[in-house]
Amino acid sequence: MDARAFSFEFFPPRTAEGKEKLRTTWQTLAKLKPRFFSCTYGAGGSTREGTLETVLDIRAAGHEAAPHISCVASTRDDVATQLERYKSNGIRHIVALRGDLPSGLGASGEFRYANELVSFIRSRTGDWFHIEVACYPEYHPQTRWAKDELVAFKRKVEAGANAAITQYFYNVDAYFRFVDEARKAGIQVPIVPGIMPIGNFSQLARFSEACGAEIPRWMRIKLEGYHDDTTSIRAFGLDVVTDLCKRLLEGGAPGLHFYTLNQATLSAEIWKRLGL
Ligand code: FAD
Repeated sequence: MDARAFSFEFFPPRTAEGKEKLRTTWQTLAKLKPRFFSCTYGAGGSTREGTLETVLDIRAAGHEAAPHISCVASTRDDVATQLERYKSNGIRHIVALRGDLPSGLGASGEFRYANELVSFIRSRTGDWFHIEVACYPEYHPQTRWAKDELVAFKRKVEAGANAAITQYFYNVDAYFRFVDEARKAGIQVPIVPGIMPIGNFSQLARFSEACGAEIPRWMRIKLEGYHDDTTSIRAFGLDVVTDLCKRLLEGGAPGLHFYTLNQATLSAEIWKRLGL
């Protein structure tokens, strides 16, 4: 078995049609034998049911699936209840995040940062869960000074995180430099690059603006120039993202985590081109 961790991320569908589509997606991707699937979790537990349902559906078919859990706008009791639900369903792998509130809503709840969530999980459930956390090679939008990013990351690891998945990026150097700096700071956990395939430029530009991922100028200009020509956008995106993945794996990245947006085609094509 490949020692590297390859995984696919979904979001919980809102409609019956979305659920059916997602089922087809994970069934297609399951044939590639990833290490695990994961499913996101809305701020304040807003997708609590959909996240668990999606994960249980995938697990019932015999595949590993990890629910995310976020702590923003949540009380300790809320989080404890959700952890108990995960535990009683035999789930032992989670992705722990602070989460983001929709703009306009003030922060509320009993947790401020993800390290507090990781500490809480460990204090309530000991070693039951394998915990993944997020990290940001191109810096989180709220990070003011570069050094703060590593301090925040290290706190999560010291609180008990086992591994990390990065925000997506298209600058390969940002990842390798970040990993080097993390190692120098004494962070030893695997840091798996998050990969965003490119299928739609305006959507990508919107996400990137919100999460602080840079679309390099040369890519942006090429993508903008394709206007509504989806075929060219996808063809260019596949070339660029496959090349990025190749360089990451050749440089020693311990796996890849694909943000699928509930679509199988692009991630599966990149997988095939990589010969995984
Ligand atoms: P934190 O680690 O708490 O960091 C948030 C910011 O606060 C950073 O700028 C950090 O430097 C700073 N910071 C941390 N600790 C301190 C401190 N003690 N003092 C001062 N500053 C501090 N969002 C969801 O809502 N649901 C999901 O399912 C989800 N899944 C994700 C999966 C991955 C792999 C990634 C990369 C992101 C995901 N997100 C998800 C988005 C994530 O919730 C946001 O990026 C959020 O803004 C930060 O979450 P975090 O866990 O990294 O927070």
